[in-house]
Amino acid sequence: MYYDPVCKNTLSEEKVNATYSYNGITYEFCCQGCREQFQGDPEKYIGKNWWQRFLYRMAESNAEEFKGQKPSCH
Ligand SMILES: [Zn+2]
Repeated sequence: MYYDPVCKNTLSEEKVNATYSYNGITYEFCCQGCREQFQGDPEKYIGKNWWQRFLYRMAESNAEEFKGQKPSCH
C-alpha cells in the first residue's frame, strides 16, 4: 500500500502510475498530474508531515510482517 501525498489517497501497487524521488525518498502518485503538482512544490505536500507518512509506512510494514506471527525479541 502506498500513499499519494497530493490527493491523499492510499494506493495499491497497481494504482501507482507515477513516482518521484525527493531527498532520497520515493513518493508514489495515482497519476502524472499529482506527480507534477508534487514536483512543483514538494515541501507543500510533505512539509512537517513527512513523519506521518513514515509512521504510516511503518504501521503498514509491521502489519504485514507480523501477520500470523508472534513478535519476537532480538
Ligand atoms: Zn493522486
